[in-house]
Amino acid sequence: MVPNDDQAKPEFKALVGQKPGGAITCPFCQGPVEYQSDGTTLAISKLTPLRYSRRKMERRAVNYGNQKNPPNPIMTPEQWIAEEKLMTGALQGYKYVEDLKP
Ligand SMILES: [Zn+2]
Repeated sequence: MVPNDDQAKPEFKALVGQKPGGAITCPFCQGPVEYQSDGTTLAISKLTPLRYSRRKMERRAVNYGNQKNPPNPIMTPEQWIAEEKLMTGALQGYKYVEDLKP
């Protein structure tokens, strides 16, 4: 759910591979978190973290909402991540990559 440009970066490949070398902005505390060498633990990172794309997250949330019965075409990323990913309370006040651009 990071921008396409960021998906080409080695940091992103590290995150997907659950390896050290890339950080993502935590959807709860917005701190940078990075996989440790055990491949499962996420810990605070010193790297500049990638951020989720608002556009992608909103599209994902609406797609999910539209598949519900009854459909919810106005599902927000906060509602989607709580319901599908069981991450209640995530993304509250999250600064998406678009939010940092002037
Ligand atoms: Zn956190």
